[in-house]
Amino acid sequence: MKYLLVLIVVAVGAAWWRSQQAPAARSKSVPPRRTTPENMVACAHCGVHLPRSEALVQDGKFYCSAAHLPRSAPDAVPPR
Ligand SMILES: [Zn+2]
Repeated sequence: MKYLLVLIVVAVGAAWWRSQQAPAARSKSVPPRRTTPENMVACAHCGVHLPRSEALVQDGKFYCSAAHLPRSAPDAVPPR
């Protein structure tokens, strides 16, 4: 009977130890989420850098916004 009690204590201890080790082992097996690096481009008008996916392209040049596109700028100002 004494050996059965020792066996139960050891089994509970081993189960507890495994439950403590499990989260660390799981986090090691799953690689951390990585976002793919994105190329940065400079605005041809003001020089600010922005991700290429957000840049506007005109004539092979990158622009940060529609206001910096060379053709759209004069339209914003009404003629007098
Ligand atoms: Zn710009």
